[in-house]
Amino acid sequence: MSIQQDNRFQAIISHAKEYGFVFPSSEIYDGLSAVYDYGPYGSELKKNIRDHWWKSMTQMHDNIVGIDAAIFMHPTTWKASGHVDNFSDPMIDNKDSKKRYRVDHLLEAKADQLREQGPDGEKAAADLLARMEQLLAAEDFTGLRTLMDEQKIVCSVSGTANWTDIRQFNLMFSTQLGSVAEDADTIYLRPETAQGIFVNFLNVQKTARMKVPFGIAQTGKAFRNEIVARQFIFRMREFEQMEMQFFVRPGTQMEWYNYWKQTRLNWHLSLGIPAEKYRYHDHVKLAHYADAALDIEYEFPFGFKEVEGIHSRTDFDLKSHQEYSKKKQQYFDSDVDPATGKPYGNYIPYVIETSIGLDRMFLLVMSHAYDEETITKEDGSTDSRVVMRIPPAIAPNKLAILPLMKKDGLPEIAKELLDECRPHFKCFYEEKDAIGKRYRRQDAIGTPFCVTIDHQTKEDQTVTIRHRDSMQQERVKMSDVKSIVLSAL
Ligand code: ATP
Repeated sequence: MSIQQDNRFQAIISHAKEYGFVFPSSEIYDGLSAVYDYGPYGSELKKNIRDHWWKSMTQMHDNIVGIDAAIFMHPTTWKASGHVDNFSDPMIDNKDSKKRYRVDHLLEAKADQLREQGPDGEKAAADLLARMEQLLAAEDFTGLRTLMDEQKIVCSVSGTANWTDIRQFNLMFSTQLGSVAEDADTIYLRPETAQGIFVNFLNVQKTARMKVPFGIAQTGKAFRNEIVARQFIFRMREFEQMEMQFFVRPGTQMEWYNYWKQTRLNWHLSLGIPAEKYRYHDHVKLAHYADAALDIEYEFPFGFKEVEGIHSRTDFDLKSHQEYSKKKQQYFDSDVDPATGKPYGNYIPYVIETSIGLDRMFLLVMSHAYDEETITKEDGSTDSRVVMRIPPAIAPNKLAILPLMKKDGLPEIAKELLDECRPHFKCFYEEKDAIGKRYRRQDAIGTPFCVTIDHQTKEDQTVTIRHRDSMQQERVKMSDVKSIVLSAL
């Protein structure tokens, strides 16, 4: 990460705390590593992103319905899904510092360093990553260790290359269900929301009378004991996912994979985030359940990183749940197959998954929105402001209503406008401080519109509306304010 980008990232983290977006968890006890709390504006923004996703999935698609499954699931779920045996990352410990690292993170960091050395470095970095992907895919730990030695990778704390062997480390958190320890069953905090969808496949299909192809959407908490948790809310131990499993006829999965690849990117772009900040990354190493997979990556201040995964999961999950539960997970397709002239009949559907981290999307929005702007005034002097250019549709507050003074009946008029608007979108009301200061605070939390009520309002029922991004102000009828804001949303 360049110094400039590093500074920008640090500025975003400070801003998130100072303006009530994100706080370290239990901060009075010095925080808990890789766990965070969302503050007043953060919780609004997070909820708005979640709602925006939910609406685009369930309301805008008549063949997608939602569920809300529990975090705790029967322990066999995680045997069937493969998480007990496979949900692990290759790790290595430094014997001097006792610090533990994910091997792929160490190699990726090395590639980042190489890249900063110009065009030759770019090529060396690409070669390194390609070799790493191959070795990971083959689970060749000796090869990975040799690669680390060749690249002279050292621990950032001890500065030595005194490493243990590479081994796998399971990322699931376990706990006990039941009050008496001897009788208690070990259960896991779900590491993904997807399995809650798979085990409910037939419940949903039957009760909502869904026909393949159809989808089930869910948002909720997931937990992973990430070894190297870093980069703020990018990698957390407790986080939220927004996942949709789309059930399709076997053989049509690539069609739907391509459909969701495009549809999901369009969702991101529809928020007004520039296309050049995104790219696709096809997986070389496929997870145990997948026949195709890619990441949608965004250019965070620390480089292009995954924000969402699109996975063709085959019939792996349903088939495996059928095996472990001994309950048939089949669907009867009455549509006629033109090749045979007969109904397609019974089959276990294939699945395309779209899986996006809500917290990661939040960080994406913060990274996109944060702007330190220098303003040249009419007299030639300069000023600066921090403005969060959050897309209006997901901004925590849509409209700030600001009476110029606390007297002369201005607050009363302002409150009339507040009463008119607040059933339709989130408003903010404030009387205190100079108007310039109040505007700056709204810029800092990303409120797209401010309205000022002044003495002229009493005479002609007009107000000044100020646009966050351009800072332009115009005089409009107070009765038009609601529709102006609504049309921007
Ligand atoms: P990574 O390679 O970054 O560990 P992953 O490939 O394991 O991610 P998936 O299992 O595909 O991630 O999860 C889907 C999405 O969930 C990711 O695209 C990401 O947005 C989010 N996610 C996964 N792990 C975390 C985490 N520890 N903290 C925050 N979000 C996460």
